[in-house]
Amino acid sequence: MPHKLRQPMMVANWKMHKTVTQTAEFLARLRKLQAGGNHNGSGGACFVVVAPPFPSIPAAVEAVKGADIAIAGQNLHWAPEGAYTGEVSGPMLAAAGCTYVIVGHSERRHGLGETDEMIHKKVRAALAAGLTPIVCVGETQEQRSGNETEIILRYQFERAFWGMSAEDLRRSVLAYEPVWAIGTGNTATPDIAEGAHRFLRRCAAGIFGPEAAAGFTILYGGSIKPSNIRALLEHPDVDGGLVGTASLEPDSFASLVQAGAKSVASPSA
Ligand code: PEP
Repeated sequence: MPHKLRQPMMVANWKMHKTVTQTAEFLARLRKLQAGGNHNGSGGACFVVVAPPFPSIPAAVEAVKGADIAIAGQNLHWAPEGAYTGEVSGPMLAAAGCTYVIVGHSERRHGLGETDEMIHKKVRAALAAGLTPIVCVGETQEQRSGNETEIILRYQFERAFWGMSAEDLRRSVLAYEPVWAIGTGNTATPDIAEGAHRFLRRCAAGIFGPEAAAGFTILYGGSIKPSNIRALLEHPDVDGGLVGTASLEPDSFASLVQAGAKSVASPSA
């Protein structure tokens, strides 16, 4: 089942961490912890997504059977199949049981040369495969210092969703991940995050209309921890988190999920 409109969401991005066995152990523990929280009487109050490395996806899908936890790929190729050594396609992820996929993470943009054009093709490929793309955008420290944040965010957003429909937007999730905050311990202040989310929502409204923008889920990512999540979620345009380091321990991730469950989404456009 996909997330509901502006439902609080917490996404664990494990990056290149966790073997098959560690994946099964983590998810068994998370399910135990979830049994004690994250409920509002109609399933999980906070929508939970876990993105393991590719080899652990089948174990993850098996481990979450009957639970309110969705599984995501961390990347996909834009072609459905072909001579692309080392790549994985959208239909392959969907067939393996994934329903979400992370696209355009800054570690791929900046470390592996992923371009806005490639990211655009990946968003299209994810949607064509029936997956929800979690599309990452964000400025570097240099761009922020040079007052270029809004130019960069608008450009990355517009390129990723170029030529798409309001329905495509509704089926997607955006993650604002300032590059200077990822894995550094330097979380964006809640005001910086809210300002960027509000700006991105305005960009979405300009292209897809206010209704589509108001329903668009925008996550924050960058050194989220149990100690800072509540302040971030208090802001109305922050719908949840994309979490790296703090998602590697089930207790820490569960406490983020609980914070999401307690937050009240109050959509704005
Ligand atoms: C991420 O990888 O998307 C991320 C936000 O990492 P961290 O939480 O470690 O900053």
